[in-house]
Amino acid sequence: MASEKLNVIDNLQNLDVLQMDRRTFMKAVAALGASGFVARYGTSLAKAMEFSKTKVVWLHGAECTGCSISALNAYNPEFADALEKLNISLEYHETILAQQGLFVDGKLVNTSELNGEILLDELANEGGYILVVEGSIPNGPDNTGKACILGGHPFKDIVEKTARKADAIVAIGTCASYGGITTTNCDTKEYCDFQGMSFTETTPGGILKILGIDKPCINIPGCPAHPDWFFLTVAALILGKLDLNNIGAALDQYGRPKPFYPPESTIHDNCPRRGYYDRGILDKEIAQGGCLWKLGCKAPYAHSDCALRKWNNGLSLCMQAGGPCLACVEPTFPNASMPFFEESEKTEILFGANIGHVALFAIGVAVVAAGVHAVRRMKKE
Ligand code: SF4
Ligand code: SF4
Repeated sequence: MASEKLNVIDNLQNLDVLQMDRRTFMKAVAALGASGFVARYGTSLAKAMEFSKTKVVWLHGAECTGCSISALNAYNPEFADALEKLNISLEYHETILAQQGLFVDGKLVNTSELNGEILLDELANEGGYILVVEGSIPNGPDNTGKACILGGHPFKDIVEKTARKADAIVAIGTCASYGGITTTNCDTKEYCDFQGMSFTETTPGGILKILGIDKPCINIPGCPAHPDWFFLTVAALILGKLDLNNIGAALDQYGRPKPFYPPESTIHDNCPRRGYYDRGILDKEIAQGGCLWKLGCKAPYAHSDCALRKWNNGLSLCMQAGGPCLACVEPTFPNASMPFFEESEKTEILFGANIGHVALFAIGVAVVAAGVHAVRRMKKE
């Protein structure tokens, strides 16, 4: 796979972003990563973005904000640079924006400049944005969504209001994609009924299906999601390199972009410790330097390009740092990955996911994609 990556990079010399077909674009972003992509195509990227601005509305549900932190840790380009380079207007993001709520200096404020609730209502009325959802969406108790309340409103209602007017939806992180950590087996799990946007093991189609919303949704799982996976997917959306009429073609059966989550290979294939695995040098204690399989590594079941792209500006990854992969990008994380630090005995196909649900999800993607044609952009003022 590494040599294939080099071939792709060689073949991409001197191509213009605007001239690239969708397939080539996705190959380029997968092979180069965000920093390499921007370094190589910065000029034509700037040209492509010159006359348009894309609105992004970013919501936080049941989550830890780790995916926002991961995006804020993007190195090259940094978060603010990435927004600028992609000509994104980040209209709403609760942990970054200056809006302070209903009261400022003890006085009730009624303008969207100071009151985030009014701002979100205005944005939802206008529509025409990419909706980014971080965190799962509780549907419980009893379908009320009251297990997660923001400003007096169930998060489920906020998602409904904003998703209906979105041009496309990006679920960032495993919680928003599939429920993730919030669906860990525990006493309150059933009561809260945590949902992913478009896929939950117990609910094919996720909260969008429950709400009856037909919108293309791209899942960028990971606990947290890699900033490259997120920004490059948003770049592909903005540049029209993802066909919203046929978005299922670019995604795997769990709604993940195939270039970053290759269905045909696993993280284990490219692990820097793979040589030890092949020679049967399997560590039984931490920090012995060999393969981490017996210490609970789940990378042989996990589909993502972590081992090639790496984290922290391409510096390292979980196994390189000495910890086993927990398959955090998979829809069955974390339950199927537990116990985290014990050798996995189950090697079921699809890592224990219900194959009937997978088929239903694939059909759902094809249907929802039909309704939307393109991500709208704002005219530059
Ligand atoms: S540490 Fe994990 S990913 Fe690396 S070779 Fe061993 S089992 Fe495979
Ligand atoms: S290596 Fe495994 S646990 Fe680490 S980020 Fe990638 S998928 Fe998640």
